[in-house]
Amino acid sequence: MAEKRDYYEVLGVEKNANADEIKKAYRKAAIKYHPDKNPGDKEAEEKFKEAAEAYDVLSNEEKRARYDRFGHAGMSGAGGAGGFGGGFGGGFSMEDIFSQFGDIFGGHFGGGFGGGFGGSRGGRSVNRGSDIRVRIKLTLAEIANGTTKKIKVNKYIACDKCGGNGAKDSSSFSTCSTCNGSGYVVTVQNTFLGRMQSQSVCPTCGGEGKIVTAKCDKCGGEGYVRGSEVIEIQVPAGVGEGMALTVSGKGNAARHGGINGDLIVVIEEEHNAELLRDGNNLIHNLNITVVTAILGGEVEVPTIEGKAKIKIAPGTHAGKVLRLRGKGLPDVNGYGRGDIMVVVDITIPTSLTSEEKKLVKELADKPHFKEAESVENQNIFERMKNFFR
Ligand SMILES: [Zn+2]
Ligand SMILES: [Zn+2]
Repeated sequence: MAEKRDYYEVLGVEKNANADEIKKAYRKAAIKYHPDKNPGDKEAEEKFKEAAEAYDVLSNEEKRARYDRFGHAGMSGAGGAGGFGGGFGGGFSMEDIFSQFGDIFGGHFGGGFGGGFGGSRGGRSVNRGSDIRVRIKLTLAEIANGTTKKIKVNKYIACDKCGGNGAKDSSSFSTCSTCNGSGYVVTVQNTFLGRMQSQSVCPTCGGEGKIVTAKCDKCGGEGYVRGSEVIEIQVPAGVGEGMALTVSGKGNAARHGGINGDLIVVIEEEHNAELLRDGNNLIHNLNITVVTAILGGEVEVPTIEGKAKIKIAPGTHAGKVLRLRGKGLPDVNGYGRGDIMVVVDITIPTSLTSEEKKLVKELADKPHFKEAESVENQNIFERMKNFFR
């Protein structure tokens, strides 16, 4: 990239130029190098962009102060120049310039470019009803198997008297005289660059192309009324907290029979104290007695379908994880099913009778109870991490 020119030099203003002088200078440069006046001229385009960049900085008090202090170095990157600031490296795009500084042209070609660069592109606009968000709470079993929920939603529904068009009867319409039924209007402006055309939604009919001459007395001409609808929602298996399902067309009815909004259903998981969700896996913290830990045995664990019996091997340590394969949740995208992870904890009794104390003390002298084995140094957290890896 060539060395950057001084912004004041670019705009041809003094260092102490005021905001008005800067604006005037930029306007002059922008008109001189405007791409419509210099078609295909790369140099003019560069000059046009250079002027926009200079104006962006010098027209902003904060950026100008930083530029005065640090020069171009103060403008790039980290300083948080904001907006365009970050984009300086790559320069401005023409579209940026028009969308940001279109007003500099004082409405002369602002309008023309506005139309070209993302303004309303004409055509009849269609009314759309707003979306409605609802939350539904699901149990683990419902999430595991998928479910169908029926909910009553209060919303705007199409007026049954007029069928949604808002008119008293089929003859209470007339073609919009402003746009002759097309729904949009074309404005032609004479500018110093020639004639500019832009298209916008007809202000008289709002883009509908017709006018209601006598309003429906039930909906007051809007085409919708307050009501409610019972909506069936199909919830696929494996959904999770915060997921949103969109039921197309079940939101609020639109004005004058336009397109309905959508119903957006946000999933909430009912808390399950026994099975903690981790993705498609479910975690259960299982407490066993010291005796079961030592001698092994059979214990009950919760699953989605109800209680299940599992075997505990003799000599089970606290923190051991037992995996019940395929007993977790189905993947919402159909990729298999998770597991239930049973994490073992051993309940150590805290209050003992004197007889129990005596028995434990007796045990303490036996060979296998004399020394703590050091086979399991990792804490539970570490082990869980390894397990899920
Ligand atoms: Zn009506
Ligand atoms: Zn119209």
